[in-house]
Amino acid sequence: MPAFAQSENQQMIAEMIKKFGETHIKPKFMEWDESQEFPLEVFKKLGDLGLMGVLVPTEYGGSGFGYFEYVTAIIELAKVCGSIGLSMAAHNSLCTGHILAFGNEEQKKKYLPKLATAEWIGAWGLTEANTGSDALRMKCVAKKEGEYWVLNGSKNWITHGITGNVAVVLARTGELLDSHGITAFIVERSTPGFAGGKKENKLGMRASETAEMIFTDCKVHESQVLGNVGDGFVQAMKILDGGRISIAALSLGIAKGALEASIKYAKEREQFGQAIANFQAISFKLADMATEIEAAELLTLQAADLKNRGQKMTKEGAFAKYYASEVAVKCSTEAVQIFGGYGYTKDFPAEKYYRDSKLCTIGEGTSEIQKLVISREILK
Ligand SMILES: Cc1cc2nc3c(=O)[nH]c(=O)nc-3n(C[C@H](O)[C@H](O)[C@H](O)COP(=O)(O)OP(=O)(O)OC[C@H]3O[C@@H](n4cnc5c(N)ncnc54)[C@H](O)[C@@H]3O)c2cc1C
Repeated sequence: MPAFAQSENQQMIAEMIKKFGETHIKPKFMEWDESQEFPLEVFKKLGDLGLMGVLVPTEYGGSGFGYFEYVTAIIELAKVCGSIGLSMAAHNSLCTGHILAFGNEEQKKKYLPKLATAEWIGAWGLTEANTGSDALRMKCVAKKEGEYWVLNGSKNWITHGITGNVAVVLARTGELLDSHGITAFIVERSTPGFAGGKKENKLGMRASETAEMIFTDCKVHESQVLGNVGDGFVQAMKILDGGRISIAALSLGIAKGALEASIKYAKEREQFGQAIANFQAISFKLADMATEIEAAELLTLQAADLKNRGQKMTKEGAFAKYYASEVAVKCSTEAVQIFGGYGYTKDFPAEKYYRDSKLCTIGEGTSEIQKLVISREILK
């Protein structure tokens, strides 16, 4: 068996999502895209299938799978709809992943079963209006008052910022720019002083909710601190290392979807009395797309393999995220070109892949930040 052949579990997950996509996503995804509706019911159904807690051990109500299965699930979902892939990934690897990695036993028992079944949807708040790449300058503060921490400030661009039932929130508990001056809190939606804010009107990924979270004198009990006070930033960087596998997989799904649609169209569409696939200008585009997708997949599986084995994968995660996301943008751009004028309309899938793909070079660390991470690692 080749080293990267899909296991039986991966094949089962891929089949299951293909069927799920046909029935529950394809009939509606353009409607959701148009209206920017976050289709909560789809995530509840994904929860029933075990896909909202792919990496959560079975003792906490999850599927207990590893990163290969997780990558397969995101790829297959993103082939159908990038938004569903993005929301599933953010829920799994950011909020749920943070509680799984750094929560104490009580916190894990309380939150993971709800998140893994999608009874609750999770959000993860690091970014603020003025601090994206430069997260250490965050202004959202938490001040200790007796047994409580009082949060004030806001988080922007948060996936499930309004709908999320629980959020992991990174807030400043120490000095500005001190990497040990940030703490992670679990904040339930019902906590007084926690509100959803502006929902972003986006270019792509429009069915994935992206919104502001606002904290006004929001009192969070000290039992809701994840790990130690002051460890939040270091924890967040570790979560983002793993999260990069998610975005690489998301990118791969979009790129593969764009390639599959392009191959089908190029064989069907005739110009000058023959299928456009016969023109080398088109077939070479397909060859480039296929080759780059293959390379992106190998980088993603390498990062997933390291993560499965509990090894450091900062550089490999950044390789995968950087390369796969740029490949997604390139492949979806080429798909629009191959579809010609039809590629520019909403009647064909190419334009949605094109719009959705761009998020991949921005979210969870831009391509420039990935290059920063990679160059730091190789210059050590
Ligand atoms: C759809 C969507 C969902 C998201 N979901 C979440 C979420 O769930 N939780 C969350 O916390 N955040 C989330 N984000 C935020 C996302 O992680 C940030 O947008 C991203 O990290 C970039 O930050 P920024 O937008 O502030 O850009 P900036 O940091 O302002 O960057 C602007 C430009 O400057 C470049 N740049 C910045 N610093 C450097 C540097 N040192 N060297 C070279 N170039 C640099 C960047 O690469 C970019 O091109 C989401 C964003 C989107 C669009």
